Amino acid sequence: MPTIADSIKVHLPDGSVKEFPAGSTPHDVAQSISPRLAAAAVVARIRPLATAESEQTDKALNEPGEPEASMYGAEQANAERLVDLSTPLNEEVSLQLLTEKDAEALKVVRHSAAHVMATAVLELYPETKLGHGPATDAGFFYDFYRPTPFTPEDLKAIEGKMAEVVARNEPFVREWESRDQSLERFKTSNDFMKAHFVERFTKPGEEISFYRNGAFEDFCRGPHVPSTGRVKAFKVMSLAGAYWLGDEKNPQLQRLYGTAFFSNKEMEQHFARLEEAQRRDHRVLGKQLDLFSIQEVAGAGLIFWHPKGAMVRRIMEDWMRDECLRRGYSLVYTPHVARVNLWQISGHEGFYSQNMFTPMELDDAEYRMKPMNCPFHILIYKNSPKSYRDLPVRLAELGNVYRYERSGTMHGLLRVRGFTQDDAHIFCEPRQVEDEVVGCIEFAQVVLSTFGFTDFKVELSTWDPRDRKAYIGSDENWELAINSLQNALARKGIPYKTIRGEAAFYGPKIDIKLVDVLGRLWQLSTVQFDFNMPARFEMEYVGEDGERHQPVMVHRALFGSVERFFGVLVEQYAGAFPLWLAPVQAGIVPISERHLAYAEKIKTTLQNGGLRVEVDHRNEKMGAKIRDFTLQKLPYILIVGDKEAETGAISLRIRGQGDQGSMSLEDFVNRAQSLVESKSTSL
Ligand SMILES: [Zn+2]
Ligand SMILES: [Zn+2]
Repeated sequence: MPTIADSIKVHLPDGSVKEFPAGSTPHDVAQSISPRLAAAAVVARIRPLATAESEQTDKALNEPGEPEASMYGAEQANAERLVDLSTPLNEEVSLQLLTEKDAEALKVVRHSAAHVMATAVLELYPETKLGHGPATDAGFFYDFYRPTPFTPEDLKAIEGKMAEVVARNEPFVREWESRDQSLERFKTSNDFMKAHFVERFTKPGEEISFYRNGAFEDFCRGPHVPSTGRVKAFKVMSLAGAYWLGDEKNPQLQRLYGTAFFSNKEMEQHFARLEEAQRRDHRVLGKQLDLFSIQEVAGAGLIFWHPKGAMVRRIMEDWMRDECLRRGYSLVYTPHVARVNLWQISGHEGFYSQNMFTPMELDDAEYRMKPMNCPFHILIYKNSPKSYRDLPVRLAELGNVYRYERSGTMHGLLRVRGFTQDDAHIFCEPRQVEDEVVGCIEFAQVVLSTFGFTDFKVELSTWDPRDRKAYIGSDENWELAINSLQNALARKGIPYKTIRGEAAFYGPKIDIKLVDVLGRLWQLSTVQFDFNMPARFEMEYVGEDGERHQPVMVHRALFGSVERFFGVLVEQYAGAFPLWLAPVQAGIVPISERHLAYAEKIKTTLQNGGLRVEVDHRNEKMGAKIRDFTLQKLPYILIVGDKEAETGAISLRIRGQGDQGSMSLEDFVNRAQSLVESKSTSL
């Protein structure tokens, strides 16, 4: 332990160093900077500077693997950590004050809200025994033991009582007690969970840390906000059952979930976003709009594309194939299975087998479903000798691949066991590679903008040369590859984040994450170097010098997975696809049965004009037909009656814009065709 001095030095983030009397608190430090900062600060991050091991962070601590440990175990005196604003500082530290701008501060607010919740529960239901109450990514929970189940009315009462606790603005005060005393107290009061946590996470002889607010106290090492009044926006969300320590022989606990935010405005925005995300959920819309299904009898993670989803997919794929051809790719098809021997050569058998379907025994050999298309494209490349004049070779395929995902981990179209990659492999000379990467990036940008995404984030994953053994390929190759990726991004003027040490062992890569309409990031496109497979397959070409060389290999996928991209599209548009993608572009509503003939005539005209149309033949009221087409999110509804039949017109309703009145059939066809042609997102 450092000796306690009369004064201590505090290093601030701006580089300045200030001297304070020993025992001063982060709150004192904040006050000395500005009263406004003192009021805004939530918690402080300190790093002791006097001791040698101060490099450690909270994450690096050698804690037992249980999440509870961080709430109860003793703090590492030398480690960087978050502390209460009221913590006395007795040694030289670097100190950062966290305010509402910091995500970590929000976690402290949420955990403090868990204390407020427990305070409220004990005031209302004093017989309750407390388990534990951590912050989570979405809020917080607290485990309670109480023989009577909480009712929805109880939850409301708890929320109301929490508001009182917040209004009382009770300071969170840290107190200490000997371990033996605490244990005895908890055992006497039958607080079996608290007694367990003390026994499990503290050592004999230690002092136990408690936090008190008003009459409530909880065994916890903190940190917390300064007082209950700083829990400004909170909500009790839901209740779930859980067995104590996950064992069904143990008492059943009631886990009460809540969430908290810095302000009511932020909380409202959060709930609005959640609601919006639910409204857009591709699994719900997939059913509602009859786009796709997953069939239990066939297996989890395997997608059945229904006619309407399949139509969107066909348009996506046709577009992709045409674009590939325009950009000098050759389209290929390859099998879904191959002998295990091939996967041994490619290295998948060694490095990737846990992600592959188990082998199938046939009469001549064992076979495996393909998890990737790469080895197949290499075999096509190798099927004939190549000279530098043949390069670059760009082989593209919408290839179905199968990967083993554990049962229970599948999620709609996003996480599946079988999917289609818009996969391509480029084989080229080293001097060609930068242009090839530029080509891939331009292509990726066109994919995103064509399908209506305006915003994306780019990451460049490079190696860590200090960890040389973790990577294959020569230094020269790595430099070439990383430079090519950097230069390509620079040439396109694309800002990106470099992530050192994140490259695969076989090469660096660029990942493009699109940002959807709700601001969520989706990893889709990737451009990846590979120094491994060309060597494993002994690929070569004859260079201008007449010598044999190994080509550079780049993997790239732009949709990534067609299934996943489609899922993102459904959510992006909430199922209301732009005209060019809509599986049915117009629904025709004959006002009565005698208008059916005219409706059919219009349908033929529109189909001849390349449009996708349906007629509602049912003997239903016009209003019901319009409503059903509206629920199907059709871009256009065309209503036809006597007047329209006489004049060769239609009465037009546009999705989201309502009734547009009468329009000649010819004008409508022209309008629709030009919007499809331009892949417009307006109608
Ligand atoms: Zn706590
Ligand atoms: Zn590949």
